[in-house]
Amino acid sequence: MSHSSSRKRKRPVKTMYLLLMSFVVLMGVRIAWNTISSAAGPIPLTSAPSGASQTGQSDSVHPDDRLKFRIVIDAGHGGKDPGATGVSGAYEKEFNLSLAERIHKRLEQDPMFEVRMTRSDDRFIELEDRAAIANAWNADAFVSIHGNTFHDPAVTGTEILYAGKSSLPLAQALQEQVAAALGIRDRGVKQGDYVVLSAAHMPAVIVETGYLTHPEEESMLLSDEGQERAAQAIYEGVKAYLSEQTPGGHALGASHRQSGNKIHFNGSSKEGKRVALTFDDGPDKIVTPQILDILKDNDIQATFFMLGNRVQANPDMAKRIAEEGHAIGNHSWAHPKFDDISMEDALKEIEDTQQLLEDTIGYRPNLFRPPYGALQQDKLDRIAQMNLAVVNWTVDTMDWSGVSTEEIMKLVREQIYPGGIVLQHSAGGKNGLENTVEALKQMISELRAEGYTFVTVSELLHLPKPGDS
Ligand SMILES: [Zn+2]
Repeated sequence: MSHSSSRKRKRPVKTMYLLLMSFVVLMGVRIAWNTISSAAGPIPLTSAPSGASQTGQSDSVHPDDRLKFRIVIDAGHGGKDPGATGVSGAYEKEFNLSLAERIHKRLEQDPMFEVRMTRSDDRFIELEDRAAIANAWNADAFVSIHGNTFHDPAVTGTEILYAGKSSLPLAQALQEQVAAALGIRDRGVKQGDYVVLSAAHMPAVIVETGYLTHPEEESMLLSDEGQERAAQAIYEGVKAYLSEQTPGGHALGASHRQSGNKIHFNGSSKEGKRVALTFDDGPDKIVTPQILDILKDNDIQATFFMLGNRVQANPDMAKRIAEEGHAIGNHSWAHPKFDDISMEDALKEIEDTQQLLEDTIGYRPNLFRPPYGALQQDKLDRIAQMNLAVVNWTVDTMDWSGVSTEEIMKLVREQIYPGGIVLQHSAGGKNGLENTVEALKQMISELRAEGYTFVTVSELLHLPKPGDS
């Protein structure tokens, strides 16, 4: 960010700004209660999304009726506004866009997030309009990317700027990651009246990545390696912060947030390098025993989300899973898409499986994973009342699709994170899951070499293990 740019605006634009803000607030409220278009790219500010003009009775969607966190990444400046000029003559706007794109790529590949950019090319956007894009989409976090500038070329370091108090935890989560990853001075978090932030209705921060006016810092920030490190750190900071939140949660009252009606994607990243391996759709007689043997050889306890109809067909395998100390979850009876079935059918799918599992392994699980990870809010609310924690995943190996072992490992390396939950399958799939078994061996040794330990979902999320009582 450069001093010449209007980070803080004064009097003349104040009235315009207030008018725009009232418009933005009205739009935000209106949109929040209607289906939000899932089309990529920024929502045009001049037109309401489809459905907004209807009665809203049939398709009204609660603001939190979604499974993924929405992040808006804002590449600062652009177009006629180049931002700062670095020592080398490079423009800040180009650095901002390049770094923003790398962050975007990471978030996009992570099943926990949906992500949008305020700009993906060299164009000028007003500060208020950047925030308005995030507001209209009801985003969970807004992260604006900048490079810093100062007349003294000796000044260095990262700082995270925020406006409202509710943005402080996000600022702190990023501050913990970014300076350390870049190996430069940590200038801390700073509160101020920044237009782009105070116009945003969700936690919002500016990342002043480093000083483009410091020669060494500039060349590091402009390098591929420096930007990759910064992108990874910002991605991890956003993820660490949101791990403790509920998608759409900032728009909800505190009481709703505390009611426990949430979908778990991962555990806390603050508890060291712990991950949970999970296996869906079993048990069967072919793949499941191979997985169990590998886990046993490595002394690892994992979590199996089982289907009622497969437990019925392979009760001994379900018993073996329980006996070997793995956590067990309910994955429905016959793997329907819960979006497509009635509430009554959904509850029956779950209850029949709970009953059979109790008869087979001796207890009723307290974990549930919806088939395809898909669940509407009304069903989530009902399931949460059934003493079931709803658990999805952060690392999708795509193993069911028949991809190669190498492809599975690539996805793991890209998505793994302390506190993460890895999804694989123990039955079904294309090619009989032959690569799942091989990938599991590699995954265990590779992640161990990186210092990861393996825990069950119950341990990761600090849930009681029902079999123990
Ligand atoms: Zn499944």
